[in-house]
Amino acid sequence: MGAQQVRERFAELYGAEPEGVWAAPGRVNLIGEHTDYNDGFVMPFALPHQATAAVSRRTDGVLRLHSADVEGGIVELRLDALAPQSDENWTAYPAGVVWALRQAGHEITGADIHLSSTVPTGAGLSSSASLEVVIALALGDLYDLGLQRWQLARLCQRAENVYVGAPTGIMDQTASACCESGHALFLDTRDLSQQQIPFDLAAEGLRLLVVDTQVKHAHSGGEYGKRRAGCEKGAALLGVDALRDVAYADLDAALARLGDEEEVVRLVRHVVTEDQRVERVVALLRAGETRAIGPVLTEGHASLRDDFRISCPELDLVVDTALANGALGARMTGGGFGGSAIVLAEANDVDTLTKAVEEAFAVAGFTAPRVFEAVPSAGARRVN
Ligand code: ADP
Ligand code: MG
Repeated sequence: MGAQQVRERFAELYGAEPEGVWAAPGRVNLIGEHTDYNDGFVMPFALPHQATAAVSRRTDGVLRLHSADVEGGIVELRLDALAPQSDENWTAYPAGVVWALRQAGHEITGADIHLSSTVPTGAGLSSSASLEVVIALALGDLYDLGLQRWQLARLCQRAENVYVGAPTGIMDQTASACCESGHALFLDTRDLSQQQIPFDLAAEGLRLLVVDTQVKHAHSGGEYGKRRAGCEKGAALLGVDALRDVAYADLDAALARLGDEEEVVRLVRHVVTEDQRVERVVALLRAGETRAIGPVLTEGHASLRDDFRISCPELDLVVDTALANGALGARMTGGGFGGSAIVLAEANDVDTLTKAVEEAFAVAGFTAPRVFEAVPSAGARRVN
């Protein structure tokens, strides 16, 4: 929905014009999966799909929330009653941001919020982070908090980890807050240092497709937590702060030291090779060898499927079918267990490829996937 529509709906709901309208995008991760909670590298870019929020301040300690995308009317909360994990509804995301801002010592005295989003939910495209970031940016601007983008991302991560109770890393919020149009974001999640890497596929006759399998993932579910705990165990056994500290050149020796801890061996191997894949993709893009990143993406999928074990039949089918029909590379993206896959392809192959994937899903008896082109787009900003 456009900024003007969101503004008008706000006025209908709350009886006054909003002070402003902000937008924050969902993201696709090009490479660097499950590395962000291991202090490693990631490389997301922003989607054109975004959450748009109209916001005004209040002075009476009340937070009023409304989403165009959820049934039900305005939800009214008191700021001093906000408490972590007290809310299992969508409102926990924006309320969590307000809570995190206040916890960090920022004086927020209330807000009226109406939002609408074009980011598919639960598809691995970070609808949750876009929701958090748009609220954090709006309140940061309105309350003149002087927060840098990386600080907004940290506060949003805290909202999601502590208030919502989903143990996610820092990638999604940083991507939504910091990405730039026409670029992928090379992010070091240890110190949040970042570089914008030009990523203009259209100029090279390439396309990046997102295939949403429509299989809903459940992030806060146990599997994500188990992988995370396994990675922490690996780091502890190897005597490092985080798996980021295991050099790729030392991987074989490190795995040998883990002995018969078979599961930890697989997790460590994924994380260490995945960090190296991010560095390879960055080097290839810098050298202008965009097509050559395809096989690296595909290697990443194999690692997530076989070592990290978070793929599913639908994601594997997208990847296998795409590769069999001329794709340069393909991989699952996001947390896993469903959600979306990405496919890098020549522009000319897109139609054939899309049909082939749709057909394969029909033959397998899977729900029809949603396929769309991902164009690297702008990060969070004020739009009205
Ligand atoms: P993902 O971030 O991959 O889309 P999550 O499970 O992390 O999936 O977040 C999805 C949740 O975010 C939804 O269940 C809902 O609570 C909230 N959410 C996302 N978009 C909206 C929206 N437009 N309106 C209200 N809630 C939303
Ligand atoms: Mg999410």
